[in-house]
Amino acid sequence: MHIFAIANQKGGVGKTTTSVNLAAALALQGQRTLLVDLDPQGNSTMGSGVDKGGLACSVYQVLVGLAGLRDARAPSPSGNFDVLPANRDLAGAEIELVELDRRESRLKEALAAHAGDYDFVLIDCPPSLSLLTLNGLCAAHGVIIPMQCEYYALEGLSDLVNTIKKVHANLNRDLKIIGLLRVMFDPRSTLSNQVSAQLEEHFGDKVFKTLVPRNVRLAEAPSYGMPGVVFDKAAKGAQAYLAFATEMIERVQNWKE
Ligand code: ADP
Ligand code: MG
Repeated sequence: MHIFAIANQKGGVGKTTTSVNLAAALALQGQRTLLVDLDPQGNSTMGSGVDKGGLACSVYQVLVGLAGLRDARAPSPSGNFDVLPANRDLAGAEIELVELDRRESRLKEALAAHAGDYDFVLIDCPPSLSLLTLNGLCAAHGVIIPMQCEYYALEGLSDLVNTIKKVHANLNRDLKIIGLLRVMFDPRSTLSNQVSAQLEEHFGDKVFKTLVPRNVRLAEAPSYGMPGVVFDKAAKGAQAYLAFATEMIERVQNWKE
């Protein structure tokens, strides 16, 4: 079971779009996949077609120890993967977790009980470096960082990298940065191309080969409760996420050899 956190403390950079579409694309390639929604906004949950309003049990209950993964997970009706859903309840977890033992490793422990159930677990982190994100980083083997190729893209990246280093040193020796994923890319923009080249220069093969273009079909899909790769598989954005899933599967296979 390979566990990846999709993290970037900036909001609106494509974490949720990447999480939902990568989960669905991995599932389309036959990978048993779980998507964990760690954002109280519940966008991954809704984007997977699970109604966040009607949840008897969610990731909140799992984190505070009131339920196990078995009770809280739900199949996505639009994609062939499972979701550990989230809603506003999760906003309160932050405060409650502070009082609890092993507060950073709650998700890790919940997933460990189901190590045989999935090939891939993807964790959609909230836009902060909070205790929730810390739970994501503690549980993960690697971090996928989506970023837009814009002027301020690199600003804030060092905070995230430092947090990842601290988690690696103190809480999770397995954790590493898997890669930077360029998203909402505009190939006609000179700035996009410049920033993209800069990223390749600085981070080398930590930059994924796949480039996800800005594509309106990816933005429309969540309002139908569908991952973009299911909603319109032929669209350029969907094709990019399908290619990204192939790239991830290849990376994971290369580790084993
Ligand atoms: P985050 O989870 O980091 O806050 P989202 O994935 O929710 O970011 O993306 C922010 C907004 O940008 C959403 O409205 C989403 O639909 C849109 N978006 C994300 N990726 C793309 C893309 N490749 N092309 C067009 N719109 C996108
Ligand atoms: Mg999000």
